[in-house]
Amino acid sequence: MIYLVVLIFSFIANANECSIFGPLNVSESIHHSVDDYSTAMDVCKDNNNNTHFAIRYFSINNIDASLIVNPETLASQVVRKSCLNSCSPMNEPLFSASRFGHVIDQSLSAAHPLQNAGVISGESSQKMVSVTIDMCPSKKGISENIYNTLLSLADSSKTAIPVGIAMTKKWMLKYPDHFQWIKTQQLNGRLNILWINHSANHFYDKKLPLNKNFLLAKNTNFSDEVLSNEIALISAGVTPSIFFRFPGLVSSQKQVEQLADWGLVTLGSNAWLALGDAPKTKNSIILIHGNRNEPAGEKLFLNYVEKKSADIAWASVIDLLTLPE
Ligand SMILES: [Zn+2]
Repeated sequence: MIYLVVLIFSFIANANECSIFGPLNVSESIHHSVDDYSTAMDVCKDNNNNTHFAIRYFSINNIDASLIVNPETLASQVVRKSCLNSCSPMNEPLFSASRFGHVIDQSLSAAHPLQNAGVISGESSQKMVSVTIDMCPSKKGISENIYNTLLSLADSSKTAIPVGIAMTKKWMLKYPDHFQWIKTQQLNGRLNILWINHSANHFYDKKLPLNKNFLLAKNTNFSDEVLSNEIALISAGVTPSIFFRFPGLVSSQKQVEQLADWGLVTLGSNAWLALGDAPKTKNSIILIHGNRNEPAGEKLFLNYVEKKSADIAWASVIDLLTLPE
């Protein structure tokens, strides 16, 4: 009995020590130092013989670490590298047979030109809807009404509301207090946040055509836009997911393929509310802005919540892609 208690305790202690940001995968501190960041695509076993895919290696606060993905649940985690044993380069049959490999394939097979490539809706037949909030650079701060509406839903249902937040480094650095406030809602269990990479700088010039705009603009350093935003998220104490949302949903096939090589899934939307898309009550990935740049979308979202929230289940993008049909 004593042995069992010791064993269970050491298992929990071990799991907690492995996860650098703790059980919620988010840290209160906004100042972690991240160095020696590199991409990888390895398959590793942990001390309990579970399989993980390691997609990044780096040091955080001088501890060797890795960003790992669960091949079936698609959940990502920042862990101590010392908790991973026997890492080796990805084995193709294992990758293809995994849910992660399947979702990467979905992303690649929809790499059609210019706009809204990648995964744009779920696969489940359940009545679930996912909301994603883009936090592009803005002079206007945060859309408090959007976040407060989600928090009211959390309070009335007494559960954390799943939400995807597509974050840019530029917004995060301009509004550290707002960023910390959003993070607090994850720490206190009111929002279950999937952190989506939305590029570091999110260049946009309204005079340029789409094929020369956003990340297709001349002189774009694509790897820096993607990876320095990941580093910014980890430095600020949150765990990047496997999803990347292109600014303006504008991309090239080459970029979608590059993301797949880095273990990232391109995330589009079948319901960008401000552009007139009507969200369905099944499998919609809703896109709105939470930076006060798109008030029309905010209004449509608030109406949708008012009319439909009794009728739908809020889900994360991962739920839409992994729960049974
Ligand atoms: Zn954006």
